[in-house]
Amino acid sequence: SIVVTGATGELGRLVVEELLATVPASEIAAVVRDKEKAAGPAARGVELRIADYDRPETLADAFEAGDRVLLISGNEVGKRVPQHTAVIDAAKTAGVAQLAYTGVLGGPGADFRLAAEHKVTEQLILDSGLPHTFLRNGWYTENYTANLVPVLAHGAVVSNAGEGRVASATRADYAAAAAAVLTGEGHLGKAYELSGDVAWSFAEYAAEVSKATGKEIAYNNVPAAVHQEILVGAGLPEGFAAILVDVDEAIARGLLAGTNGDLARLIGRPTTPLAETVAAAVAAA
Ligand code: NDP
Repeated sequence: SIVVTGATGELGRLVVEELLATVPASEIAAVVRDKEKAAGPAARGVELRIADYDRPETLADAFEAGDRVLLISGNEVGKRVPQHTAVIDAAKTAGVAQLAYTGVLGGPGADFRLAAEHKVTEQLILDSGLPHTFLRNGWYTENYTANLVPVLAHGAVVSNAGEGRVASATRADYAAAAAAVLTGEGHLGKAYELSGDVAWSFAEYAAEVSKATGKEIAYNNVPAAVHQEILVGAGLPEGFAAILVDVDEAIARGLLAGTNGDLARLIGRPTTPLAETVAAAVAAA
């Protein structure tokens, strides 16, 4: 089977949708911890395998020999190394034919805090000897467009990324790439640096929001400490705010700006333009 973990998450749901477009549902399995959340795909014939990354024993039946597996990285920063270790161990025991992993753009060269667990995970996969494919995802455009409320309220995009650029793409773009490597051939042992075709600056992002809303939206580049204060003031926990500030510093250094075209090549089309995602988010707001 083609097996997707994190299949009830935002990215995982889209990967399952992509797979359903090209593969019979009976060949697709979703690893989920909450069966109810997967009622939709289950009704369409997708097999559900119930497992929790935090309870390694539940992963014993998650994979079968010959499966092609997508491990979607967990969303609990700080807990992901033991969680991913449990998944890799289970995949190894089962003897899967492919383990694809959603890491981070830059792979071993990504030096920001959010990248640390991804780097360890890639190394664990290499050490496991499993046939693998690394999907080093750049930023989701939705990281920004899902956060339009404060931007519109204050008339400003705030960051400490300076003139740094982000080659973002939509979750749907990354999902299509994941489906491509799970259904196609020639992807074993490969590391793809996945990113949008165009790297935009925050000033350009603010201009796109202006265009889509008809409102004046400025770009406020602020020092890291000021951004940290603003985020905490808006209600974010300190640790999470610090991680976001650290990401902006990485953006300022150009770490999320790579545009090598791997994503567009894998999906056989250009990545979704920023303007399109902004316009859709504004229309939905
Ligand atoms: P989501 O938070 O929507 O999905 C995370 C998925 O992981 C969910 O399906 C969740 O299950 C599952 N999961 C978390 N913990 C466990 C566990 N203990 N056992 C089993 N399943 C678990 O994130 P996205 O889909 O948007 O993104 C996928 C991943 O990409 C994130 O988890 C994160 O690692 C990374 N990411 C990347 C970003 C980028 O810009 N490139 C931005 C943000 C995250 P459930 O549905 O039951 O909650």
